[in-house]
Amino acid sequence: MTTSQTVNKQSMYETVLKQFNKTADIINLHSNIRKILGITNNEIIVHFPVKMDDGKVEVFTGYRVQHNNALGPYKGGLRYHPTVDVDAAKALAMWMTWKTSLAGLPYGGAKGGIQIDPRNYSDAELERITRRFTYALGENIGPEHDIPAPDVNTNAQTMAWIADTYMSTISSSERSQNQHVVTGKPVGSGGLEGRDRATGFGVYLTIKELIKSKGENLKGKTFIVQGFGNVGYWASKFLTEDGAKLIAVQDAHATLYNENGIAVEELSQHSSPRKGSIKGFSSANEIDPESFFGLECDILIPAALGNQITDDNAYMIQAPIVAEGANGPTTSEGEKILLEKGVTIIPDILCNSGGVIGSYFEWLQNRNGELWELDEVMNKLEKKILQVFKKVQTEVNDSQTDWRTAAYVIAISRIETAYNQRGIFP
Ligand code: GLU
Repeated sequence: MTTSQTVNKQSMYETVLKQFNKTADIINLHSNIRKILGITNNEIIVHFPVKMDDGKVEVFTGYRVQHNNALGPYKGGLRYHPTVDVDAAKALAMWMTWKTSLAGLPYGGAKGGIQIDPRNYSDAELERITRRFTYALGENIGPEHDIPAPDVNTNAQTMAWIADTYMSTISSSERSQNQHVVTGKPVGSGGLEGRDRATGFGVYLTIKELIKSKGENLKGKTFIVQGFGNVGYWASKFLTEDGAKLIAVQDAHATLYNENGIAVEELSQHSSPRKGSIKGFSSANEIDPESFFGLECDILIPAALGNQITDDNAYMIQAPIVAEGANGPTTSEGEKILLEKGVTIIPDILCNSGGVIGSYFEWLQNRNGELWELDEVMNKLEKKILQVFKKVQTEVNDSQTDWRTAAYVIAISRIETAYNQRGIFP
């Protein structure tokens, strides 16, 4: 897998700006709004010390980039990964703005994290790192201002630590009403039933709908997945439950192949949540990582990091559908090659939007003091994701364009309307 080791020819920030500028040209976006949306509002960098298990102190660097809040509070995940830096956070924050706008949510976009490999730290260290990061961010986050969520290598436990630290350090009169400072919390601590599977469910649903629109169904369709974290696992689970067959999986440590199908639950049990890897799974063969993208299949799901499908490998891809579970997995050059080959790309801001839609439901649940049941959540999620999917599909058909362009046109036009209505302060 081409991860941090690779020298990327095109950064994620360049990719998102290219996508934005292309759309701005298409919709003839007013130059004032083009200026505003082409830049991130706030880039917060914090350095903070944490005591390690051996008594030594390490200083960490954390980021939170807030791109735009024209439609509502900043919203987006926090990731713990060696590739986290200002540029990555800027790109990912912009993608969040487009994603929340496309989904019709009352949110803007943000992203952040810490530049670490969490596998190098104990759970106790990760807890102290997370708490001290939250403290360092201080009032830069807040339930009506900027609401983090899980992302790469962070999870419900991370969110619980953030919520607890935030609530313990703000003024006592506000403490009890602020658990919606983060979403993706554990169900016992204000989390939403089903938030864990929301992103993967959206990936599955958008693939299913696309295939349905071609008069086909998922039965017997083969798919391959890059990344077997939360998104890769849940998407695979829903797809296989609907009759599709997982034939290859790749993570940073191994690439597995089995033409008869890989058992999703068994693989998940093999690969433990945080430090685990799919490597060593006995019911599939380990193959050359370089051959992964070229495997014959019906659906390719990049569900790991950005910049994976590039002009170096796009020509190999045989799947007629690429469903972007990850954020920014395809560079503009990679995309050009895929589109020329007639591949349909379900773009990240649509394909993985189930996560932030689930987050919105959690935020509402907390704000209104309600508790929703799993069935109710899954029904609401399905309804909302299908609504967004149909909106993009209509734009694809009306404008005879690709799915990313269609999604961007809808997302950026909505923000433009908001600016036109409210004007620019002062
Ligand atoms: N990290 C997820 C994303 O990239 C979820 C963000 C959220 O729920 O705020 O969409």
